[in-house]
Amino acid sequence: MTKKMGKKVRRPLWAPWRIEYIVSPKDGQCFLCGRKSPGGKDEDMIIHRGEKAFVILNMFPYNSGHLMVAPYRHVATYSLLDSDERNEISGLLAAAERTLRKAMRPEGFNIGFNIGKAAGAGIEEHIHLHIVPRWLGDNNFMPVLGSERVVPQALSATAALLRKHWTP
Ligand SMILES: [Zn+2]
Repeated sequence: MTKKMGKKVRRPLWAPWRIEYIVSPKDGQCFLCGRKSPGGKDEDMIIHRGEKAFVILNMFPYNSGHLMVAPYRHVATYSLLDSDERNEISGLLAAAERTLRKAMRPEGFNIGFNIGKAAGAGIEEHIHLHIVPRWLGDNNFMPVLGSERVVPQALSATAALLRKHWTP
């Protein structure tokens, strides 16, 4: 037995690329573009629609409540966003943080963009911001990423909870 065994082994701080690989387009259609119109696929995963950007629950979450903020426009990098889009994404990030705090009482967050394949982006053609709520010891109860999918009912319930608590 090594010393390690009894310790909490933290997952890497920032590893959403494994999820993203799963959802990366295989049929030529962009995952995010496929979900930007109201009433489309996975509508129950949409938390909020803004004017230029929207908030969607990550269906292959790194942790419970893992959100993504994405512009409607299909652009690959942050510098290609116009200032209205950047402003709205920034506002939606603040709202998402407030909402998650209220609904799920996280003890921390990982927030960031993965831009380009080298940085771990799975949906690399369509930029999106990850907002991952964290709890101390959360690696003890969440399944290892990519090996297990959170059941759809749980995702749906989480999405409904976050919509209910949405705080602009
Ligand atoms: Zn797209």
